[in-house]
Amino acid sequence: MFIEPYHNQNHQQEQKAGWIEVICGSMFSGKTEELIRRIKRANIAKQRVKIFKPSVDTRYHANDIVSHNASSVEAIAVPDAQQILSLVGDCAVVGIDEAQFFDASIIAVANQLAKQGKRVIIAGLDMDFMGNPFGAMPHLMAIAEYITKVHAVCVVCGDVANYSYRKTAVQAQVLLGETDAYEARCRRCFDQT
Ligand code: ADP
Ligand code: MG
Repeated sequence: MFIEPYHNQNHQQEQKAGWIEVICGSMFSGKTEELIRRIKRANIAKQRVKIFKPSVDTRYHANDIVSHNASSVEAIAVPDAQQILSLVGDCAVVGIDEAQFFDASIIAVANQLAKQGKRVIIAGLDMDFMGNPFGAMPHLMAIAEYITKVHAVCVVCGDVANYSYRKTAVQAQVLLGETDAYEARCRRCFDQT
């Protein structure tokens, strides 16, 4: 389990140190759950928190992030990553979900937020349905201080799953969907089709 690094943001310091944490994995691997867990702990520490998600992802709720086990926290849907900079205000912790859907400017935005002394927690799919790196996620993983890869369970054989298998023939990289369109699969079961 991820333990928050000891950077006490409640201290009265001249310039607080910021950093970037990435939570990655396949669909159903618990990325949003883990993001919500960290956000709730920041709330307990009385740190000001803001959470963002791309407005393209409207699957559950316009203004919340919701995990597959139905826990949720309030979030702001933004059309592009730049908007995050104008909306963060003086919060100490910035959460970003579904980061793979943001444009490449999310990389500069994340660096900028960390430079401002904020803790930036980014969750997103590391691979698309073809098994290729997704959007800016590889770059975000490269610049992050901390990376956590979470795993789902293969629905075919029960092994550890790190692929999002698409059940339909649609070829576009972005196809919003849930269990109707995707299932978590391990390496062997992903390759077997
Ligand atoms: P992600 O954000 O990575 O898509 P969530 O945090 O929204 O994942 O959801 C994780 C939850 O999804 C699990 O706690 C579990 O209840 C549910 N779930 C559904 N299918 C699977 C699966 N194949 N493997 C693991 N968890 C699954
Ligand atoms: Mg999620």
